[in-house]
Amino acid sequence: MGGEIFKQLLENLDKAADTIPDNRHGPNTKHSMRDAVKSAFGVFFFQFPSFLRYMTEMQNKRKMNNAKSILGVKTLPSDAQVRNLLDNVNPETFASVFSQSLKVAIMSGVMKLYQVLDEGVLVAIDGLWYHSSEKIHCKHCLHQTKDGVSTYYHSAMAAAIVKPHNSSVIPIMGELITNKDGTKKQDCELSAAKRWLPKRIEELKGLKATILGDDLYSHHPFCKQILDNGLSFIFTCKQDSHPWLAETVKYSFLTGQTRKERKGKKHFLYTYRYLNNVPIRDEKETLMVNYMELAITEKESGKQTYYCGWITNKPVDNLNVQHIVDCARTRWKIENEHNNVLKNRGYNLEHNFGHGKEHAAEIFFLLNLIAFQFHTILAYCDIDFQKARASCSTRVAFFEAMRFCLRYAYHDSWQAFLIFLYTDGGLAEPG
Ligand SMILES: [Zn+2]
Repeated sequence: MGGEIFKQLLENLDKAADTIPDNRHGPNTKHSMRDAVKSAFGVFFFQFPSFLRYMTEMQNKRKMNNAKSILGVKTLPSDAQVRNLLDNVNPETFASVFSQSLKVAIMSGVMKLYQVLDEGVLVAIDGLWYHSSEKIHCKHCLHQTKDGVSTYYHSAMAAAIVKPHNSSVIPIMGELITNKDGTKKQDCELSAAKRWLPKRIEELKGLKATILGDDLYSHHPFCKQILDNGLSFIFTCKQDSHPWLAETVKYSFLTGQTRKERKGKKHFLYTYRYLNNVPIRDEKETLMVNYMELAITEKESGKQTYYCGWITNKPVDNLNVQHIVDCARTRWKIENEHNNVLKNRGYNLEHNFGHGKEHAAEIFFLLNLIAFQFHTILAYCDIDFQKARASCSTRVAFFEAMRFCLRYAYHDSWQAFLIFLYTDGGLAEPG
């Protein structure tokens, strides 16, 4: 059954590739768009920058290769050919891969595990840099100048389904922050979020999503846009960026409750306070929101170790305040379990995989995210993938073992590769 899930995920890549307009003629048409997309995807899925070179070497020596047997790549393009073929592709092409693959996860029952608030899921959003250079740039790079030095960069508003006390996050399609042709004003994270919402609204509604975000998002226009679209939000609310709201809270009676928690030898007091129906701003057109906050104090010393406030449209009461705060605090998972994993745990997000002139950098970023999404779904749905992953102590060691087994041995299929990995391949783990 596990192999079936991988097959469905790969088909989503094929279907997206089939929608790419292909105006090539003559000898240029040797490699199909499917082959270009899946060859690039292989680099990220196996976290193997030299993937194509080694597969070509294997093909020359053995007349077969793992890109063909595992990913269904018919003819192997070179790195340069992949970059050229994908450079002009509209990044939006890959949105369907995220959403169709999410449907695979839903059909497999994964999403039930993430329903934590009013039968819906939490979708955390956050800005994410993935390229930065003083030299390499393309038409769509953002730029900034500091101390006379110009830096070109790419970033995105990333989105992921998160759950309290679960380290697995499921990436969904976010929105690229990208300079469009002919516009002088640079794009920004909040504008990207405002474009993202209507594009993904059907999917978000299906998930009954509550959007989690930092203080950047917790202002009238974006909160209203979320409510107008039938969704919910919980956003960090800093006092200095919400002076009116902070003033109202300060002079109101907040309902509160406290619980104790022991961590090692220390005892902590968790104090929750909330106030429903507070205007978000002091203007004619405003919005009533519900405010809540958590302060954590070390009992022995009386020292405050944590404090944060949030606003939400969800009514807060004595029964749910701790749970809603728990959900609010899950926002950090998009930083720790998503952005940080992509940058530092094998995905090498900030590595330059080839920049291109148009969209190559953006497409490689999306394929890397899709690889991460596939890994998360397979970790839930593919028993052999679970065994292979469990045979390695860390995520980085797992990728190391995959690279080793792909380079030196031929495997008939995805499932044969995984079985090799957790039986013979365990030997490949370094150290
Ligand atoms: Zn660029």
